[in-house]
Amino acid sequence: MTARVTTLGTSHGNHTYCRFNTATLVEVGDASYLIDAGSPASALMLRGEKRIQALRGVFLTHMHEDHAGGLPGVIKALLKAPEPGQHTDVFLPEVEARAGLEAWLVAIRLRWPSPLVTLDTVRDGPLYEDDLIRLEATRTRHLSDRYGPASFSYRMTIGDKRIVFTGDLSSDFSDFPEFAKADPCDLCVCEMTHFPPEAALTTLMDSPIGRLVFNHIHDPWHGPGEARLRELFDALPYEFHIAHDGDEFEV
Ligand SMILES: [Zn+2]
Ligand SMILES: [Zn+2]
Repeated sequence: MTARVTTLGTSHGNHTYCRFNTATLVEVGDASYLIDAGSPASALMLRGEKRIQALRGVFLTHMHEDHAGGLPGVIKALLKAPEPGQHTDVFLPEVEARAGLEAWLVAIRLRWPSPLVTLDTVRDGPLYEDDLIRLEATRTRHLSDRYGPASFSYRMTIGDKRIVFTGDLSSDFSDFPEFAKADPCDLCVCEMTHFPPEAALTTLMDSPIGRLVFNHIHDPWHGPGEARLRELFDALPYEFHIAHDGDEFEV
Protein backbone atom coordinates (compact mmCIF):
# COMPACT_ATOMS: atom_id res chain seq x y z
CA MET A 1 0.00 0.00 0.00
CA THR A 2 1.42 3.36 -1.01
CA ALA A 3 0.86 6.59 0.89
CA ARG A 4 1.16 10.09 -0.49
CA VAL A 5 2.34 12.71 2.00
CA THR A 6 1.62 16.33 1.09
CA THR A 7 3.16 19.11 3.15
CA LEU A 8 0.25 21.54 2.76
CA GLY A 9 1.73 24.21 5.02
CA THR A 10 5.38 24.28 6.12
CA SER A 11 5.98 27.45 8.12
CA HIS A 12 6.94 27.92 11.77
CA GLY A 13 4.68 29.88 14.18
CA ASN A 14 3.87 32.67 11.73
CA HIS A 15 2.86 32.63 8.10
CA THR A 16 5.72 33.87 5.93
CA TYR A 17 6.02 35.27 2.40
CA CYS A 18 6.43 31.76 0.99
CA ARG A 19 4.92 29.41 3.58
CA PHE A 20 1.66 28.95 5.50
CA ASN A 21 1.29 27.26 8.91
CA THR A 22 1.88 23.57 9.47
CA ALA A 23 -0.48 20.94 8.12
CA THR A 24 0.49 17.62 6.53
CA LEU A 25 -1.91 15.40 4.63
CA VAL A 26 -1.44 11.64 4.25
CA GLU A 27 -3.50 9.96 1.52
CA VAL A 28 -3.92 6.17 1.57
CA GLY A 29 -6.21 4.76 -1.10
CA ASP A 30 -9.46 6.72 -0.99
CA ALA A 31 -8.89 7.89 2.59
CA SER A 32 -6.82 10.70 4.03
CA TYR A 33 -5.50 11.86 7.39
CA LEU A 34 -4.32 15.25 8.53
CA ILE A 35 -1.44 15.78 10.95
CA ASP A 36 -1.90 19.30 12.34
CA ALA A 37 -4.33 21.83 10.95
CA GLY A 38 -2.50 25.13 10.84
CA SER A 39 -4.30 27.81 8.87
CA PRO A 40 -5.42 27.71 6.09
CA ALA A 41 -5.44 23.89 5.98
CA SER A 42 -8.86 23.47 4.35
CA ALA A 43 -8.06 26.08 1.66
CA LEU A 44 -4.75 24.37 0.89
CA MET A 45 -6.56 21.03 0.54
CA LEU A 46 -8.94 22.66 -1.93
CA ARG A 47 -6.04 24.22 -3.85
CA GLY A 48 -4.28 20.84 -3.96
CA GLU A 49 -7.49 19.18 -5.23
CA LYS A 50 -7.74 17.03 -2.09
CA ARG A 51 -11.27 15.89 -1.20
CA ILE A 52 -12.12 17.08 2.28
CA GLN A 53 -14.79 14.35 2.57
CA ALA A 54 -12.02 11.70 2.46
CA LEU A 55 -10.58 12.84 5.81
CA ARG A 56 -10.93 10.02 8.33
CA GLY A 57 -8.71 11.47 11.03
CA VAL A 58 -7.27 14.80 12.13
CA PHE A 59 -4.44 14.56 14.68
CA LEU A 60 -3.11 17.75 16.26
CA THR A 61 0.39 17.55 17.76
CA HIS A 62 -0.34 20.43 20.19
CA MET A 63 -2.62 23.40 20.59
CA HIS A 64 -0.33 26.23 19.45
CA GLU A 65 -2.24 28.36 16.95
CA ASP A 66 0.09 27.55 14.06
CA HIS A 67 -0.97 23.88 14.38
CA ALA A 68 -4.61 24.25 15.46
CA GLY A 69 -5.78 27.56 13.96
CA GLY A 70 -7.12 26.04 10.73
CA LEU A 71 -9.18 23.35 12.48
CA PRO A 72 -12.48 25.29 12.59
CA GLY A 73 -12.15 25.81 8.82
CA VAL A 74 -11.53 22.08 8.30
CA ILE A 75 -14.61 21.21 10.39
CA LYS A 76 -16.69 23.78 8.52
CA ALA A 77 -15.63 22.23 5.19
CA LEU A 78 -16.42 18.72 6.49
CA LEU A 79 -19.96 19.77 7.41
CA LYS A 80 -20.60 21.65 4.16
CA ALA A 81 -21.28 18.92 1.59
CA PRO A 82 -21.13 15.52 3.30
CA GLU A 83 -20.98 12.28 1.34
CA PRO A 84 -22.64 9.00 2.40
CA GLY A 85 -20.54 7.24 5.04
CA GLN A 86 -18.37 10.29 5.70
CA HIS A 87 -16.97 10.49 9.22
CA THR A 88 -13.91 12.17 10.75
CA ASP A 89 -12.27 11.59 14.14
CA VAL A 90 -10.55 14.72 15.43
CA PHE A 91 -7.95 14.26 18.16
CA LEU A 92 -7.14 17.24 20.40
CA PRO A 93 -3.97 17.08 22.52
CA GLU A 94 -5.50 18.76 25.58
CA VAL A 95 -8.75 17.85 27.35
CA GLU A 96 -9.52 21.50 27.97
CA ALA A 97 -9.23 22.44 24.30
CA ARG A 98 -12.51 20.72 23.57
CA ALA A 99 -14.83 23.17 25.32
CA GLY A 100 -13.12 26.13 23.66
CA LEU A 101 -13.31 24.58 20.22
CA GLU A 102 -16.97 23.62 20.59
CA ALA A 103 -17.87 27.11 21.80
CA TRP A 104 -16.14 28.60 18.76
CA LEU A 105 -17.87 26.18 16.35
CA VAL A 106 -21.22 27.34 17.78
CA ALA A 107 -20.13 31.00 17.70
CA ILE A 108 -19.29 30.80 13.99
CA ARG A 109 -22.78 29.36 13.35
CA LEU A 110 -21.91 25.81 12.38
CA ARG A 111 -24.50 23.08 12.94
CA TRP A 112 -22.75 21.68 15.99
CA PRO A 113 -22.61 19.03 17.39
CA SER A 114 -22.60 16.94 14.23
CA PRO A 115 -22.60 13.16 13.67
CA LEU A 116 -20.01 13.76 10.92
CA VAL A 117 -17.21 14.70 13.33
CA THR A 118 -16.20 13.09 16.63
CA LEU A 119 -13.87 14.89 19.05
CA ASP A 120 -11.41 12.81 21.07
CA THR A 121 -8.29 13.41 23.17
CA VAL A 122 -4.75 12.32 22.36
CA ARG A 123 -3.12 9.91 24.80
CA ASP A 124 0.20 8.08 24.93
CA GLY A 125 0.48 4.85 22.99
CA PRO A 126 -1.91 3.37 20.40
CA LEU A 127 -4.40 6.09 19.49
CA TYR A 128 -6.23 5.25 16.27
CA GLU A 129 -6.71 2.26 14.00
CA ASP A 130 -8.82 1.54 10.93
CA ASP A 131 -8.50 -0.90 8.03
CA LEU A 132 -5.73 1.21 6.42
CA ILE A 133 -3.54 2.74 9.13
CA ARG A 134 -2.52 2.59 12.77
CA LEU A 135 -1.36 5.65 14.66
CA GLU A 136 0.45 5.89 17.99
CA ALA A 137 1.45 8.93 20.04
CA THR A 138 4.31 9.80 22.36
CA ARG A 139 4.78 12.98 24.39
CA THR A 140 7.37 15.67 23.62
CA ARG A 141 8.50 18.49 25.91
CA HIS A 142 7.55 21.31 23.56
CA LEU A 143 4.42 22.39 25.43
CA SER A 144 2.81 21.63 28.80
CA ASP A 145 -0.58 22.21 30.37
CA ARG A 146 -1.37 21.91 34.07
CA TYR A 147 -1.48 18.11 33.74
CA GLY A 148 2.02 17.87 32.23
CA PRO A 149 3.40 17.60 28.70
CA ALA A 150 0.68 18.37 26.15
CA SER A 151 2.55 17.99 22.88
CA PHE A 152 2.99 14.82 20.87
CA SER A 153 4.92 13.06 18.14
CA TYR A 154 3.06 10.52 16.02
CA ARG A 155 3.98 7.34 14.20
CA MET A 156 1.69 6.13 11.44
CA THR A 157 1.89 2.54 10.23
CA ILE A 158 0.49 1.73 6.79
CA GLY A 159 0.97 -1.97 6.01
CA ASP A 160 4.73 -2.45 6.34
CA LYS A 161 5.49 1.28 6.01
CA ARG A 162 6.12 3.68 8.87
CA ILE A 163 5.98 7.47 8.92
CA VAL A 164 7.03 9.56 11.94
CA PHE A 165 5.80 13.12 12.52
CA THR A 166 7.82 14.82 15.24
CA GLY A 167 5.53 17.79 15.85
CA ASP A 168 7.27 20.68 17.60
CA LEU A 169 10.17 19.69 19.86
CA SER A 170 12.20 21.23 22.67
CA SER A 171 15.17 23.55 22.15
CA ASP A 172 17.82 20.84 22.66
CA PHE A 173 16.19 18.16 20.45
CA SER A 174 16.36 15.71 23.39
CA ASP A 175 12.70 14.77 22.90
CA PHE A 176 13.12 13.58 19.33
CA PRO A 177 10.82 10.57 19.65
CA GLU A 178 12.18 7.27 20.85
CA PHE A 179 10.23 5.35 18.18
CA ALA A 180 12.18 7.20 15.50
CA LYS A 181 15.49 6.42 17.20
CA ALA A 182 14.78 2.76 17.94
CA ASP A 183 12.79 1.45 14.94
CA PRO A 184 13.29 1.98 11.22
CA CYS A 185 10.86 4.35 9.53
CA ASP A 186 10.42 4.98 5.82
CA LEU A 187 9.82 8.71 6.24
CA CYS A 188 10.36 11.12 9.10
CA VAL A 189 8.69 14.54 8.93
CA CYS A 190 10.74 16.64 11.36
CA GLU A 191 10.20 20.20 12.48
CA MET A 192 13.05 22.68 11.87
CA THR A 193 12.50 25.70 14.12
CA HIS A 194 13.04 25.13 17.83
CA PHE A 195 16.64 23.87 17.91
CA PRO A 196 19.91 24.72 16.19
CA PRO A 197 20.73 22.23 13.42
CA GLU A 198 23.92 21.26 15.28
CA ALA A 199 21.79 19.97 18.18
CA ALA A 200 19.92 17.60 15.88
CA LEU A 201 22.63 16.32 13.58
CA THR A 202 24.06 13.46 15.66
CA THR A 203 20.66 12.08 16.68
CA LEU A 204 19.38 12.24 13.12
CA MET A 205 22.53 10.59 11.77
CA ASP A 206 22.17 7.72 14.23
CA SER A 207 18.44 7.13 13.65
CA PRO A 208 17.27 4.42 11.22
CA ILE A 209 15.42 6.82 8.95
CA GLY A 210 14.75 6.00 5.29
CA ARG A 211 14.04 9.57 4.15
CA LEU A 212 13.72 12.82 6.05
CA VAL A 213 11.51 15.81 5.34
CA PHE A 214 12.03 19.02 7.27
CA ASN A 215 8.88 21.07 7.76
CA HIS A 216 7.90 23.89 10.16
CA ILE A 217 10.81 25.80 8.64
CA HIS A 218 12.25 28.71 10.61
CA ASP A 219 13.01 32.12 9.01
CA PRO A 220 16.80 31.70 8.63
CA TRP A 221 16.21 28.70 6.35
CA HIS A 222 13.79 30.37 3.98
CA GLY A 223 14.87 31.50 0.50
CA PRO A 224 18.66 31.85 0.29
CA GLY A 225 19.01 30.27 3.78
CA GLU A 226 17.88 26.96 2.35
CA ALA A 227 21.29 26.29 0.80
CA ARG A 228 22.95 26.87 4.20
CA LEU A 229 20.57 24.43 5.91
CA ARG A 230 21.27 21.86 3.21
CA GLU A 231 25.01 22.22 3.90
CA LEU A 232 24.55 21.79 7.65
CA PHE A 233 22.84 18.43 7.12
CA ASP A 234 25.07 17.33 4.27
CA ALA A 235 26.50 14.51 6.42
CA LEU A 236 23.14 12.72 6.79
CA PRO A 237 23.47 9.19 5.43
CA TYR A 238 20.04 9.30 3.76
CA GLU A 239 18.01 11.54 1.46
CA PHE A 240 16.50 14.66 3.01
CA HIS A 241 14.23 17.42 1.76
CA ILE A 242 13.35 20.92 2.91
CA ALA A 243 9.59 21.01 2.46
CA HIS A 244 7.65 23.74 0.71
CA ASP A 245 3.90 24.20 0.73
CA GLY A 246 2.32 21.66 -1.59
CA ASP A 247 5.31 19.29 -1.91
CA GLU A 248 4.35 15.62 -2.26
CA PHE A 249 6.28 12.55 -1.13
CA GLU A 250 5.39 8.94 -2.00
CA VAL A 251 6.02 6.35 0.68
ZN1 LIG B 1 4.72 25.38 15.72
ZN1 LIG C 1 4.45 24.93 19.00
